[in-house]
Amino acid sequence: MHIRPPEGDAYELGITGSIFTEIADSTTELPDTSALWALPGLADCHAHVSMNSLAEFDTITDETMVDSVPRNTWAHLDHGVLLILDKGGKSDTTLVALDHDADLRPYVETAGAMISPPGGYYGNFGSEVDPENLVEHIRTKAATRGGWVKLVGDWPRRGVGPVNNWSLDVLTEAVTAAHSAGARVAIHSMAQSSADAVAAGVDSIEHGPFLTKNDLTTLAARGGAWVPTIVNTLHLRDILGADSSGGRMFSKGLEQMRENLPIAEQLGVTVLAGTDLAVPHGEVATEALRLHEYGLSEVAAAKATSVSAYEYVGRPAKPAPGQEADIVFFRENPFESVETLSNPALIIRRGKTVRSDLG
Ligand SMILES: [Zn+2]
Repeated sequence: MHIRPPEGDAYELGITGSIFTEIADSTTELPDTSALWALPGLADCHAHVSMNSLAEFDTITDETMVDSVPRNTWAHLDHGVLLILDKGGKSDTTLVALDHDADLRPYVETAGAMISPPGGYYGNFGSEVDPENLVEHIRTKAATRGGWVKLVGDWPRRGVGPVNNWSLDVLTEAVTAAHSAGARVAIHSMAQSSADAVAAGVDSIEHGPFLTKNDLTTLAARGGAWVPTIVNTLHLRDILGADSSGGRMFSKGLEQMRENLPIAEQLGVTVLAGTDLAVPHGEVATEALRLHEYGLSEVAAAKATSVSAYEYVGRPAKPAPGQEADIVFFRENPFESVETLSNPALIIRRGKTVRSDLG
């Protein structure tokens, strides 16, 4: 099988079972991919595979979440998304994604129940933990499976506006506890909590419209990630109405992101694409278009939706013998045409063809 990456030389690979091999050792009959361009897969780095829409926030049951995971993970595969970072859910039930047949889902890392202090998020969603119990909660519950801990960094209080949920000290201790347990920390930051989150060593800033240049510089220096979720910010502004106080905050945030994205690219921040329930599962290519529209170069927007995520989590970004046979092909070079990401020609997960549009 001919592998032509967007950058670098083309090469040949075979597949045996679920694994890439040298072409001479291939036992699988492979299609002609010589006219196509290859990526290791698309990646959605802010998904919630146990949920179907924002509207279900307070009503969804564990049973519905269990039923939703196989359907939603398949939708991702069917769009060429072979890597998902699930940024948590209503309960630890979201961890069932890890148990689902690996041939029928992308590679998944996931946070369990999202963590907020009482009153610090949608009520009846995730785990409510007092700040003084956060470290204990992370050590004994949150960091034990899935690879990620998800904190809610700030949340609006009636008549007050957004309030930071945790002090810098608490955040710093929480990050240390998670890292000691081998987990990474992601934080929901829609308002002013991102500065503390960056200072505390949080691995991934989710949303983060109000990151400063200083924050971005710190994040870049330590290889931290930023998942802007622009489709979701636009979606939330639509829901609230552009003239509401929340809607005005999102508009301001979008303007700020338009300034920050080129700076982040220049500084070398790991910017990653995430959909966050704003579009149907699998449609992360939409976020790639938004990232480009809001200031990332075409190359950086395509990388944010594929190879950057692979490099960030330590999955192979360049398919090679011995690795799990995951690969997605496109008709155009994705680094020159972000549009092509929404239309993969051939998708292979663990050696099996998920979808092929080749004649
Ligand atoms: Zn989210």
